[in-house]
Amino acid sequence: MYQSPRGTSDILPEEQPYRLYIEKKAADIARLYGYKRIDTPVFEDTELFLRGVGGATDIVQKEIYTFEDRGGNKLTLRPEGTAPVCRAYLEHGMQNLPQPVKLFYMEANYRYERPQSGRYREFHQFGYEAIGDSDPVLDAEVIDMAWQFYVSLGISQLHLIINSIGCSHCRPQYLEKLKTYYSTDTQNLCKDCKIRLEKNPLRLLDCKNDSCRRLAASAPKSYEELCPECAEHFSKLKTFLTVLNLPYEIDHCLVRGLDYYTRTVFEIQPEIEGAQSTIGGGGRYDGLIEELGGKPTPALGFATGIERIAANLKRQNLSVPTTPGPLIFVAYLGEAAREAAVNLCSQLRKSGFAALQAPGSKSLKAQLRQANSTGVRYTVIIGEEEIKTGTVQLRDMTTSQQENISAEQLKILLGKSNQ
Ligand SMILES: [Zn+2]
Ligand SMILES: [Zn+2]
Repeated sequence: MYQSPRGTSDILPEEQPYRLYIEKKAADIARLYGYKRIDTPVFEDTELFLRGVGGATDIVQKEIYTFEDRGGNKLTLRPEGTAPVCRAYLEHGMQNLPQPVKLFYMEANYRYERPQSGRYREFHQFGYEAIGDSDPVLDAEVIDMAWQFYVSLGISQLHLIINSIGCSHCRPQYLEKLKTYYSTDTQNLCKDCKIRLEKNPLRLLDCKNDSCRRLAASAPKSYEELCPECAEHFSKLKTFLTVLNLPYEIDHCLVRGLDYYTRTVFEIQPEIEGAQSTIGGGGRYDGLIEELGGKPTPALGFATGIERIAANLKRQNLSVPTTPGPLIFVAYLGEAAREAAVNLCSQLRKSGFAALQAPGSKSLKAQLRQANSTGVRYTVIIGEEEIKTGTVQLRDMTTSQQENISAEQLKILLGKSNQ
């Protein structure tokens, strides 16, 4: 027996209402804020992610699915959505459009992660990206979109965490301060953090190891080391968040996992059994487009995982709309009536009514049993008598009442039930 590869899962029919609902809400929010959908390929040149996500990140070091195709091209399955969107922005000359360009995507991403609860190797994300403007009003807008999205699903007890990690002018000095702070206490760092101290010191702040966390708590704070421009940006952002009535907490340990972030970073966390767990986040990536070969272009975005959202909806017992099942089952009595049943079923579908029929030559009793198990509202029965008179037997499955009606009456009745 084959099984789906580790870390992947089938999205079964009963899971689909959650997907559809989440995707619809995501698209509704995008429309309200003027974000247009973009789809990028499942794989890209590996170089895009080396440059775009960062060679020192966990994603690129340990998690990307990289392969060489038959033509010798080095390709990587998309581990995240932002770098491909920026590649598309440049490739299609979107820098010549009125800025900012507002885009959203909904896609599968691939990371070789240790499968544990809520983490998959194939997972689904959607995200909003605003490219081409540095105004903190956009930062507030993207955070507001994320917040309103979760609220529209009914997810409650949300926390918004923000931080500013500075820009290419002020961050190097801050990183030096961070290194100095940690270098006096390296014996208390975990193995990974000892390496991070050299390669990626910012990530020392969000290590989950207990002793690293204790050190991080009193580490220098990036938002206290900002250059005047970054400080002004962060202060404006806080003002706009207040205007939008979004309660925020500032956490100097929030740095996000990717190299491309600058200035604003944020996460939204619902409360789960007293603890908090991130459901989505994002930030500014003012240097990324330039890193990919474009002109310096400020930008920011937000991404959230669809599986995690679905898990939160279930945990909070939030109901999602289900797609209505078929309305009518067409049964027949005798071979001649079978042809009439095939015809009627086809006519019903062309008129917009979801209709089913039983394959194989089954007894009427077996057909009715099948009709019952599908949960249809009505069953129509056609026999030789009905063919002669151009009528059908209509059985209401909820009341078990049966009556003889014309094909025209049938359509009128179904029309009412479909509303
Ligand atoms: Zn700065
Ligand atoms: Zn650590």
